[in-house]
Amino acid sequence: MSDKKKRFTVGWLYPDLMNIYGDRGNILTLVKRAEWRGFEASAIDLPRGTTTGMDSVDVFFFGGGQDREQALVYQDLIDHKQSILEQTVADGAVILAVCGGYQLLGHFYQTAEGEKFPGIGLIDVRTEAGKKRFIGDVVVDAQIEGLEPRTLVGFENHSGRTYLGPAARPLGKVRMGSGNNGSDGTEGCMQGAVVGTYLHGSLLPKNPHLADLLIRRSLTRRGVTELGRLDDSAELAAHERILQRAQPRAL
Ligand code: GLN
Repeated sequence: MSDKKKRFTVGWLYPDLMNIYGDRGNILTLVKRAEWRGFEASAIDLPRGTTTGMDSVDVFFFGGGQDREQALVYQDLIDHKQSILEQTVADGAVILAVCGGYQLLGHFYQTAEGEKFPGIGLIDVRTEAGKKRFIGDVVVDAQIEGLEPRTLVGFENHSGRTYLGPAARPLGKVRMGSGNNGSDGTEGCMQGAVVGTYLHGSLLPKNPHLADLLIRRSLTRRGVTELGRLDDSAELAAHERILQRAQPRAL
């Protein structure tokens, strides 16, 4: 396998500011699962003002952050990252964005005080914060082709209510939790190679099937169609524990 084909790179957007509720676990999961398949896997940090190496990234990760942190990164996203992100995604890279990161990939995020942070419109979603925060475990019945098991689990903590436009489709329906906005029953969004979600926890350690879907998708351009099987018994046992919490209590 040629050197280039063997490399797998994760690009971590704003690791110093957009990284809450264990989001770092998503980076470790992506790098480790690629390594266990024989790839030379690494992660590069992409803080404010840095774009070095962005064009060689396979999977970008954009974590969550409180309003204060979002206020510190949205201008850099527009000024320095947007055009390279768009180009690299057009070339086959993938983005996973959680909560605050998810919101800033949309058209805008408006705080509960009415302050509006413009997003980069990579996904057709808009977010307006409400007074009440959505906090707790979440179980999603996913509608993603090729995802097995067909559930996603995680933890949410957000004031934002996200509404999907016609170009974006939800990751799935909430079985437990509030998801995008606590009213239409949807969670997250998928548009092209961008996956947005409110699931922290962190997300990927308890959803190894989603991690593999992202890795496989980003390496399709290098002719990688299949990934070797891994023993995910521990990960799926943790997944199953959250599913059980969604079971209606026996009265
Ligand atoms: N500040 C945003 C909100 O409250 C995002 C929070 C987060 O990333 N957990 O909705």
